[in-house]
Amino acid sequence: MATTSLDLARVRNIGIMAHIDAGKTTTTERILFYTGVSYKIGEVHDGAAAMDWMEQEQERGITITSAATTCHWPLEEVDHTINIIDTPGHVDFTIEVERSLRVLDGAVTVFDGVAGVEPQSETVWRQADRYGVPRICFVNKLDRTGAEFHRCVDMITDRLGATPLVMQLPIGAEADFKGVIDLVTMKALVWPVEAAKGEMYDTVDIPATHAEAAEEWHGKLLETVAENDDQMMELYLEGKEPSVEQLYEAIRRVTIASGKSSGTTVTPVFCGTAFKNKGVQPLLDAVVRYLPSPLDVEAIEGHDVKDPEQVIARRPSDEEPLSALAFKIMSDPHLGKLTFVRVYSGRLVAGSAVLNSVKGRKERIGKIYRMHANKREEIESVGAGDIVAVMGLKQTTTGETLSDEKNPVILESMDFPAPVIEVA
Ligand code: GDP
Repeated sequence: MATTSLDLARVRNIGIMAHIDAGKTTTTERILFYTGVSYKIGEVHDGAAAMDWMEQEQERGITITSAATTCHWPLEEVDHTINIIDTPGHVDFTIEVERSLRVLDGAVTVFDGVAGVEPQSETVWRQADRYGVPRICFVNKLDRTGAEFHRCVDMITDRLGATPLVMQLPIGAEADFKGVIDLVTMKALVWPVEAAKGEMYDTVDIPATHAEAAEEWHGKLLETVAENDDQMMELYLEGKEPSVEQLYEAIRRVTIASGKSSGTTVTPVFCGTAFKNKGVQPLLDAVVRYLPSPLDVEAIEGHDVKDPEQVIARRPSDEEPLSALAFKIMSDPHLGKLTFVRVYSGRLVAGSAVLNSVKGRKERIGKIYRMHANKREEIESVGAGDIVAVMGLKQTTTGETLSDEKNPVILESMDFPAPVIEVA
């Protein structure tokens, strides 16, 4: 059984947020499909089984049924673990939405390329602002009649008050949408007209018809990044073109820093059509490249059990005392009651005793599972920054903290901030 000590730099805890019908389910389903295909490659012994499963799922579609689903994506041949946290579909200011946002480190916001920014896109955006969640955007449904990428980008500025970083330009429109120009590498990514699920794009030179627009938007990208990043500004003022790596790094810094700050959110914007299988692989690259890892959250603050005024900070390290937040309880048809937890510090070990610091009661951790789209994996223990499902918790409800018995802490304050009043 695996004792996972993940390299935290290679973990992403993300949510996918959208106005209803924008394509959140389809995008998530494609992410699970593509990551399932890629993971299979690394697991030769499991290959046949994974393939069978893929074929079955291809017919009925993979849907997230778990509060957190773990998948893997290689970027430049380095494996990354992505935990997708299900954010509730209805977007009231419920405590459940608050809790799922609380355990995320980053998010993908999906927009409908025809409708653009819709009322619920605004609501989820404000919620993510409030929780300081860095975001990337995916303008979906570019195959639809009336879809307009740039109109949606303008709405991100006007309606959301954000600073979009246009990372791609669409090639072709509506039924002729073929691919995108990557404005960092300055290459075109082109899919077959009828791209099948799992089909990879071809990387080719930018078509001559798009060369001028690509140069113009590449220039705008450099300028906007420089306006928001000192290191890039230095290069920019010296008239030096950054390397692709430097640009990736700068975009990552800007996305994370602005996402967490109370100022304007700078957000990289990608595009495609999840349904027609174009654009999801570059989006996965972007999740890994630009969204934060648990290490980018320097420390989580909680408070002393007896004295709510006394702040206790815990770093995302296995060496710190255990602190974990229960954020969702589900009933699994095979396993029974499962409590989903995010471990912020220390290690959570199967069979160990921990303290529910809110109730002041001891709890025993039963089995620990990592939930994948097609299977659950039992693990012995899990470290800081990770998200798993735990069996055996009898008294813990959502929002409560599990801590080291000798070093108790309460992570979630019981008073929620007042809801943001939406101004029409
Ligand atoms: P959700 O409510 O945000 O989860 O949206 P869904 O993923 O369920 O999608 C809503 C509808 O839009 C479904 O009928 C999808 O098949 C369709 N859809 C999703 N993505 C695309 C796309 O890229 N292009 C087109 N034409 N339709 C899409």
